[in-house]
Amino acid sequence: MKCPVCQIDVKDDAKTCKKCGVDLNQAPMWRPTWKWHLSVLAVIYVALIIAYFAISHFLKKLPPPYRLRDIPKEITPWIKS
Ligand SMILES: [Zn+2]
Repeated sequence: MKCPVCQIDVKDDAKTCKKCGVDLNQAPMWRPTWKWHLSVLAVIYVALIIAYFAISHFLKKLPPPYRLRDIPKEITPWIKS
């Protein structure tokens, strides 16, 4: 079998790795399942969507000089629309 830390080959009955000394009898590391990935991604997407609408909502309430999404015509006279 292989050492989970340094990936060198160790004896199957070895208690510790001879290179890095890690305890080989402990339970294997927890690994995320596809359900865990799906739920974490869903939480991240929902948080981003909520943050987008919340930030847009508060940016619309700012006074005119700070509403950078609506550029006044007098500061870009070269754009003729
Ligand atoms: Zn090792």
